[in-house]
Amino acid sequence: MIIKENRDEILSYLEDSSNFSAGRCEKVFIPENEQEVLEVVNLCNSQKMPLTVSGGGTGTVGGRIPTEGSVISVERLNRIISINGNSAICEAGTIINNFLQELERAGKFYPPFPTERNAFIGGNASTNASGEYSFRFGATRKYVMKIRMVTGSGKIVEIPRGKFLADERGVIKTDFAHFEIPSYQTPPIKCSAGYFSAKGMDLIDLVIGSEGTLGVITSVEVLLTDRLPERFIMVFFLPSEEKMFDFISEVKHKFIQDMYMLEFFDRASLFFLKDDFPEIPSDTCAFYIESTSTTELMEQWLEISEKYNARDVWVGSDPKNYQRLIDFRHRLPENINAYFRKLKITKISLDIAVPENNFRELVSFYRKFSEESGIQTVLFGHIGENHLHFNLFPADEKEKNLAKQIYLSCVEKALSLGGTIAAEHGIGKIKYPYLRMMYGDKGIKDMIRIKKVFDPDGLMGRDTLFPSSLLFEK
Ligand SMILES: Cc1cc2nc3c(=O)[nH]c(=O)nc-3n(C[C@H](O)[C@H](O)[C@H](O)COP(=O)(O)OP(=O)(O)OC[C@H]3O[C@@H](n4cnc5c(N)ncnc54)[C@H](O)[C@@H]3O)c2cc1C
Repeated sequence: MIIKENRDEILSYLEDSSNFSAGRCEKVFIPENEQEVLEVVNLCNSQKMPLTVSGGGTGTVGGRIPTEGSVISVERLNRIISINGNSAICEAGTIINNFLQELERAGKFYPPFPTERNAFIGGNASTNASGEYSFRFGATRKYVMKIRMVTGSGKIVEIPRGKFLADERGVIKTDFAHFEIPSYQTPPIKCSAGYFSAKGMDLIDLVIGSEGTLGVITSVEVLLTDRLPERFIMVFFLPSEEKMFDFISEVKHKFIQDMYMLEFFDRASLFFLKDDFPEIPSDTCAFYIESTSTTELMEQWLEISEKYNARDVWVGSDPKNYQRLIDFRHRLPENINAYFRKLKITKISLDIAVPENNFRELVSFYRKFSEESGIQTVLFGHIGENHLHFNLFPADEKEKNLAKQIYLSCVEKALSLGGTIAAEHGIGKIKYPYLRMMYGDKGIKDMIRIKKVFDPDGLMGRDTLFPSSLLFEK
């Protein structure tokens, strides 16, 4: 096992893709196998030393950044143990990109892979990440069949799907844990906000999305599909957002069987792509779809583009143009981040999803702020799942305060509409106040009660999901 104590070597573990900057730690443990993970957890328990699990560090909410104690990085637990029919077993530190490449060679595919392919598969399970194709396939939760974990109390446990279910009283009982599930219900939409809870739930679903607060996941068994069929991408540039909801409901109705993605970019988003793609028509917004490739489907999509007066349509049906359109989609968050970093403006980014019936109301709510606040905003993302990232870029202190108020108003609105405050990125160390708004003090207490079943001294993932001070409140 490698142990890093030198400050320069530790620095990279004090960051992820968030703006959380309060990271500090004494040591980074890098075990080679599960037994060494257990040794680290036992050592921390004996010394009452807080321990934070580090995956690929691509998280956007500071979950892997320690606020005290030590870090355990699973980067050396990176073996793909087996690929067998429609399932694979991977150690938690397997890099998603490597896994996808290996699967490609085997003619297989892992449906929930996230856009950021440097993430680890254990990190994906810990955050219940949603992938590029979550519109079609759903989030990571659906694909995880078994988890091995070293609990915060130092037990190696194996949790297969279907084995440990909540009974009719809402109690889960195993030889390593016995507890009542949370009193709240996780909304039945795309969601990665706090511990999962549902009637009759499976213990594995509690661990998925628990953001490193219960233990160290050492390996996961996941479901695979066959390699996907040929697909094309189309980008439609529409003259305005006026017909946006008609467009969505029509294409969902007509093409749902064949669509892999339905994404949206507002006019402000397209501005950030203009340098790389100068041919983007001015004053447009865009819909981005990916579909099974047949000539008939392509023709039907082109008819749709005419019906909605698209100013232009880009088609990626051959490998070169397909890749170009993938770049178009991936460049957006990169370009936005780079642009505002240069201006030293910190973005405030919402990760809200709501039930389909209430989506229109949420978008109108966002638009009111785009038009009236004076703050620069960008709206883009997974419109097919009623999940858009509303980003605000406050230019000065006054705008920062206003942006915070807007964030709060949007959270209140989303909750009143039955939504979630975190659809895919989790809570980490920056969204506790909103998690509390979502589930109330009772919900937070339920989570803490359950955490202590797995991690009695509250050492794992300090300050993730909830402030550690709450763990020791009487
Ligand atoms: C450009 C970009 C695009 C992104 N796109 C998406 C997207 O499409 N969908 C999406 O959902 N997310 C996306 N993300 C966010 C991020 O990629 C995911 O949250 C990812 O699942 C994090 O995995 P990681 O291995 O990097 O975890 P880390 O950032 O290292 O950790 C995340 C959390 O998981 C915990 N953790 C990690 N490994 C373990 C383990 N083995 N056991 C227990 N706990 C563990 C950590 O303690 C932490 O709380 C994106 C991020 C970026 C920067």
